[in-house]
Amino acid sequence: MGLDCAAVTPQRLCIGCRRSDAKSALVRLVINPVDATLQLDWAQRLPGRGCYLHPQCVSVVIRNHGVGRAFRRSIDPAQVAAVLNPLKAD
Ligand SMILES: [Zn+2]
Repeated sequence: MGLDCAAVTPQRLCIGCRRSDAKSALVRLVINPVDATLQLDWAQRLPGRGCYLHPQCVSVVIRNHGVGRAFRRSIDPAQVAAVLNPLKAD
């Protein structure tokens, strides 16, 4: 009877490993609607289209062009690397 609380945890797909995980385990990326730049959305509440990835999947995402695919547009790989590389330091 009733809902399983664990099942209610929001799940999102990682654009690196393509596995679903709890939203809280992933980092959100958005394209700023004003200046069209890629940015990290730590609070996961910025407006606009977003995608998610594990911090540990950064290298995969950079290599497989997952960001451009997620947003269905070509994004300068240098911009992707500049935004995502700081995540690898952790
Ligand atoms: Zn992943």
